[in-house]
Order: sequence, then structure tokens, then C-alpha cells
Amino acid sequence: MTAPDPKLLANLRVVLARTSHPGNIGAAARAMKTMGLAQLYLVDPAIFPNSQADAMASGAIDVLANARVCATLAEALADTTLALGVSARRRDIVAEVLTPAEAAARLLGEARGAPVALVFGNETNGLTNEELGLCHALVTIPANPAYSSLNLAAAVQVLAYEVRQAWLGHPDWPQPEIDAASGSELENFYVHLETALAELDFLNPGSPGKLMLKLRRLFSRTRLAREDVNILRGILTAAQAGRRSRRE
Ligand code: SAH
Repeated sequence: MTAPDPKLLANLRVVLARTSHPGNIGAAARAMKTMGLAQLYLVDPAIFPNSQADAMASGAIDVLANARVCATLAEALADTTLALGVSARRRDIVAEVLTPAEAAARLLGEARGAPVALVFGNETNGLTNEELGLCHALVTIPANPAYSSLNLAAAVQVLAYEVRQAWLGHPDWPQPEIDAASGSELENFYVHLETALAELDFLNPGSPGKLMLKLRRLFSRTRLAREDVNILRGILTAAQAGRRSRRE
């Protein structure tokens, strides 16, 4: 058996969205390092850097020092091809729900080709609908239904542990089957889609309503390849050109 490939863990990033308590950021960094993860991305943290974060990180201070702070979740996911939203069960969202072990296998299966992400929400509100719209599927820790909300860093520990077990257990993850589109390629596609749908009078630009969110979910369920995005954008461009020439 060959040794597990360190590149797979190096390509897996933990993204914490809008964290309120700096101590949780430090504890998350420690949880990551104990399992061999080092890529920490912080989206608009309330307080960072901070002495409480440093204290809770303990020997994982290097993970904090190397953490990337981003203004938006889209920025943190721009070069990733797979993002899984970690969330307690949400009845209002129709999305594929994975167990932590399934999530670990899915992430490592993709990580040979490109960066992948686990996205954790704010301590009070969890992930917003907009943030979930940037994720391809949900991961739920099957906790006590009577009290299922783990501390943020504890949830990071559970997922990081599962990733490590999957990584140790299967050293020979294959290349991903498709050349998946990255987060920024998908975001550019959604901007194009919204513009084109407005030009075609399908969408009221003043109130796009829930349609764009629903279309995001539709496409995220299909795992778009880079080539698929190019084809879809070609169709949009042709439809826009047809509409403009009929208007002239
Ligand atoms: N009240 C919030 C809880 C946030 S806990 C809510 O209803 O969503 C902070 C973060 O920890 C969550 O956003 C999620 O990323 C993670 N988390 C906590 N419990 C979890 C569980 N049972 N399954 C998956 N993620 C969980």
C-alpha cells in the first residue's frame, strides 16, 4: 500500500463564515492541526486577530498565522471545485445531505484535482441561504435530535477527524472524473445567467425573487464541468444576440 498523499489534505480548506467568537477560531485551528489540516479561511470574522484566538489555538498558532481573511464567501471559494456546507438539518433547504464520512470521501475524491472546502456557519445563525447557495451539498452531524447544535470548533473537529480517517484508510484516491468548474467560474456563469434572463424578460431585474437561488440549487446538484459551463454560456450568448437582433 502506498502512503496517503499529503497533497489531498493540503487541498482541503476549512472556511468559517462570520465567526462571532475569536476563541472558536483558535479552537478550530487546533482541531484542524490535530488532524493534519492547515488551510483556514475566515470570511468576515467579527474579531480577528485576537489574543483569545491565539490562546485557544495553543500549538496550532501557525494555522492562525497563515489563515486567509476574505470579505465574502464567494472569495473564499473562488478557486475551489467542491464546497460542502456544514449545517444542522435544515427543513427549508432542498439539498443533498451527507454524513461526515460521506463528505470526507467526496472531498478527498475531488482534492487531487483542485482545492475543496468545508464551510461552517456563524455560532448564532448558522449558514445563510445565500451562503448555502454557494455550496454543492450539506453535511449534517447526526447528533442528539433533542439538542443537535455542536459548538463550532467541536463541529470542525468531527469533520476533520472523518477526513483524516478517510485519508488514512484509502491512500489511493483516484483523479476526479470530471474537470469541475471552479467557484469563480460558476459565479461568472450565474451573473451571466441573471443578466441574460433579465434581457429575455424572463426575470424582473428589480426583483429576481427566489428564482436565482433555485437555479443555483438546480445546477449545484448536477456538478457542472468546466466544459458544461462554457456550453451553457454559449447558449446564453446566442439567446442574448437573438433577442438584440429582433429588437433592432
Ligand atoms: N444555531 C445555529 C447553530 C450554529 S453552530 C444553527 O441553527 O445553525 C455553528 C456551526 O457549527 C454551524 O453553522 C455548523 O457549521 C456547525 N454545526 C453545529 N452543529 C452541527 C450539526 N449537528 N451538524 C452539522 N454542523 C453543525
